[in-house]
Amino acid sequence: MTKQLFTLLIVCSTFLINAQERCGTVMITEQMMLNNPEYALARSKVNTQTKEWIKSHPNHKEETIISIPVVVHVVWKTNTQNISNAQIQSQIDILNQDYRRTNIDAINTPSAWNSIAADVEIEFCLAQTDPNGNPTTGINRVQTNADQFLMWGGTTVKDEASAWPNDDYLNIWVCNLGGGILGYATPPSNWISNVDGVVIGYNYFGNTGTVQAPYNKGRTATHEVGHWLNLEHVWGDNNCGNDQVSDTPKQEQENYSCPGFPKNPNSCNTTNSNGDMFMNYMDYTNDACMNLFTNGQKTRMLAAINNYRQNMLNHNLCSVPTSILNSNAKRKELIRVLNILGKETNKSKTNTPLFYIFDDGSVEKRIIIE
Ligand SMILES: [Zn+2]
Repeated sequence: MTKQLFTLLIVCSTFLINAQERCGTVMITEQMMLNNPEYALARSKVNTQTKEWIKSHPNHKEETIISIPVVVHVVWKTNTQNISNAQIQSQIDILNQDYRRTNIDAINTPSAWNSIAADVEIEFCLAQTDPNGNPTTGINRVQTNADQFLMWGGTTVKDEASAWPNDDYLNIWVCNLGGGILGYATPPSNWISNVDGVVIGYNYFGNTGTVQAPYNKGRTATHEVGHWLNLEHVWGDNNCGNDQVSDTPKQEQENYSCPGFPKNPNSCNTTNSNGDMFMNYMDYTNDACMNLFTNGQKTRMLAAINNYRQNMLNHNLCSVPTSILNSNAKRKELIRVLNILGKETNKSKTNTPLFYIFDDGSVEKRIIIE
């Protein structure tokens, strides 16, 4: 009896470990569709619209690398949750490496899949211009009284820190995320709301500071931004399901930890001897185990930007506002210095008010004290 109970406990705890959802995107999307018929309708059209776009744009190639402006809302209660600028920058760097395939662990991609591993040709920056056209760090820090945030019910992190215009920026909220998930995202459609963006737990963001193994290499954000650009999980959220991408093999379910290669050859009634692509960013394996997107996933992401996130194709938000650049470029020059009687004088004269006349017509009163 005791032995049976013990076995049962082991089975239950294994189930609980495996049942831990890395990602809440499927859940939040279903919830949003239930609550909002407009969103449900828009989302129901996405796969057809995407297939049509891909069909009508064979061999599509962007003329330049797409750069996505990011605003990171750090919503914190404790000092630990108020993660450092360095930690934020480490995540931006990882996104750039993973989406340009300059990640150092690209060498771990099995050779069978090297030819379909993609440089997605998308880059990310911390926004340099805010919605008012002013210079910004792209980091918005907001203090909260909330111990943690859930995806829905009560005050959400998106209530605590309002989004920047969702058409123009990728909003990423970093907070103490409850419910046992590492992050979640809103997949695109023609209906973009003010909750559009990505949420990541502060202990899974970047690869330094507060991060916790085995989710300490910034791949939660790589995965969630993949959802934000319309990627689905590689197992298609079903037993041998469809992830809408043809070059990712079918697999029975998600993978955890870091399996050996090949895992599950010929599963789902296929002759695929390489088995699951568990090192794909859209599986659930440990951060250190992930290393690729495929060409098929790249095409789907580019279709998503062209169909639903077109402002990402043409903007200046990754550079310092031009007004600031102009004022720096046109540094005004001193023409002459006048004393209080209006007579030209030497600017080294001390302890008396002097008037500096500049070439742009401006006048400044200065006193050199000695
Ligand atoms: Zn996911």
